[in-house]
Amino acid sequence: MSKANDPSLKSWIKIPDDSDFPIQNLPFGVFKTEYLEAAAGVAIGEYVLDLTYLHENGFLDGLELPPGIFNQSCLTSFIGLGKKITSSVRERVSELLQHDNDELQQNKPARELALIPQAEVEMLMPVSVANYTDFYSSIEHATNVGTMFRDPDNALLPNWRHLPVGYHGRASSIIPSGVDIKRPKGQTKAPDADKPSFGASKRLDFELEMAFITCKENGLGNAVSTSEAEDYIFGFVLFNDWSARDVQVWEYVPLGPFLAKSFASSISPWIVTMDALVPFRVDGPEQEPEVLPYLKFEGQKNFDINLQVFIQPEQGDEDLVSKSNFKYMYWNVNQQLAHQTVNGCNIQVGDMYASGTISGPTPDSYGSMLELAWKGTRPIKLSDGSERKFIEDGDTVIIRGFAENEGVRIGFGEVRSKVLPAD
Ligand code: MN
Repeated sequence: MSKANDPSLKSWIKIPDDSDFPIQNLPFGVFKTEYLEAAAGVAIGEYVLDLTYLHENGFLDGLELPPGIFNQSCLTSFIGLGKKITSSVRERVSELLQHDNDELQQNKPARELALIPQAEVEMLMPVSVANYTDFYSSIEHATNVGTMFRDPDNALLPNWRHLPVGYHGRASSIIPSGVDIKRPKGQTKAPDADKPSFGASKRLDFELEMAFITCKENGLGNAVSTSEAEDYIFGFVLFNDWSARDVQVWEYVPLGPFLAKSFASSISPWIVTMDALVPFRVDGPEQEPEVLPYLKFEGQKNFDINLQVFIQPEQGDEDLVSKSNFKYMYWNVNQQLAHQTVNGCNIQVGDMYASGTISGPTPDSYGSMLELAWKGTRPIKLSDGSERKFIEDGDTVIIRGFAENEGVRIGFGEVRSKVLPAD
């Protein structure tokens, strides 16, 4: 295991106990301030560490970094250097922040310029998303949806246990936390109506997901095996795959999701590295029947990451509406990437691969309003006394996530988005 993950490490920076960003995390993101243009940083406690400053002032010497690599509006060039180099940057940043290292700690002018309070920064998209795939890899979610819309006795379609079902989504409308979304409009048709109508979606939903971001190219025609997949995965973000259920149910036959999904997907801005998540590996659910050889894998490929969804009405407090966990995924990320490339599809640096809605086994762990309120038949009550079947105008949806063991909390921060009325 990497030195930067040692649970006993302490930083000279004061880290609040409940912080998502202790010295063992060190996620990468893109920030800007009133005075600084968009550039790369690392989250530590309540600060952003300015990587451009560190690089330009010799603190990252010897790491084979090209000039200007951090002074860019996205991390694509940096993560494309490959994991050997990006992991060495995380290790070096860890060293600089350790309590017994004086290099930055005792250099007051450098320290003051390199550390920027998070309250003073705006977080931006960490990568310009090259390609976006959305999988459908939670067996609980797929079973719930199949039960609601098809047949409770045959909830899973025949292919589901044989391959990680997915579709190619829209990259251009992936947006960072804090950007409001407008309620989408589209075609819908009520089951008893004889023709469709047009208007604002009445069934706007969130989907609790995580996504991984790739950092290496395989080249057209070359498959990536399950054992190679982790070389291609830089890290993870929280992902809210906004969905217009009434549009979806009318449009999706026979080619799958389209406009019901492409109006917005919101992500948390800090990419938590695969390196930082190594201590949280767990076994996934048993896969039965046995998968085809190209989907077989060895070792623990799931991650124990607690996930929470909150709804905050326009006037009101946050209500926790779901508690789930990334470990429930039936298909793991290695299998997803192996499947994505088995036909020779080329992956690019800065692609985003979302998990699909992550539902757990119990009704309080479902990852969408569709499931939590069971197709609108069991509205959920919020603490202000109001009820929700789906998401209403003025609601803010917040997803948070963190892994925790041995007293170390590796958090993702949050993805927060407010829903504005349709025009
Ligand atoms: Mn989705």
